Amino acid sequence: MTIRDNLANINEKIQEACNKSGRKPEEVTIIAVTKYSSIQRAEELLEAGIRHLGENRDREFLEKYEALQNRAQWHFIGTLQSRKVKGIINHIDYLHSLDRLSLAKEIHKRREELLPCFVQVNVSGEESKHGLKPEETLDFIEQLAPFNKIQVIGLMTMAPLSKDEHTLRKVFSKLKELQLKVQEKKFNHAPCHELSMGMSNDFEIAIEEGATMVRLGTALVGKDI
Ligand SMILES: *Cc1c(COP(=O)(O)O)cnc(C)c1O
Repeated sequence: MTIRDNLANINEKIQEACNKSGRKPEEVTIIAVTKYSSIQRAEELLEAGIRHLGENRDREFLEKYEALQNRAQWHFIGTLQSRKVKGIINHIDYLHSLDRLSLAKEIHKRREELLPCFVQVNVSGEESKHGLKPEETLDFIEQLAPFNKIQVIGLMTMAPLSKDEHTLRKVFSKLKELQLKVQEKKFNHAPCHELSMGMSNDFEIAIEEGATMVRLGTALVGKDI
């Protein structure tokens, strides 16, 4: 399967999920996750019309960034250690993994312009996953107000590796509920209009539950490294 075939397949599924839930495909942005892929594969994505690329490690991100620069919008989707902030923070367009004040502080210190961020929430409560507890999220976002390089444009979560639709749906709908609570607060620094949720095996359900950005690796890009 070529990237174009994969993309056509995925677009069809996005359309179906939108039809089911009364949404429009234009409300959903695909982030192509290139962590298992070469620079050449990332180029093919751009040629197929993809504009948003996601990476989860600093070194791999920088390699691709150096090759492709502003031909893509760059999403950093992995856990970011504070000591790695300096090397990447002025090259990325979005951060999906803001989960602690020490990281916010470091970003505030190093970033030159406003950075659109997602606050990562560990909705499923699995120990292996990063992110805030749902009940901590509102307070955390409130505490981000003084860090004026950070704009909380949305929430991000990773669902459990489950095939059970009910389990997945519960996780995604809980993130949507939390988003509405943040929006009610009308924080200037946290408009929170986006939801980054859904990966290769669960993006249709995530879209039905309100995802505006889906992060697709295997299903779209495959693996070539
Ligand atoms: C790898 C990764 C993805 C994409 O995973 P696939 O299942 O291959 O689509 C999405 N989000 C994050 C945070 C990832 O690390």
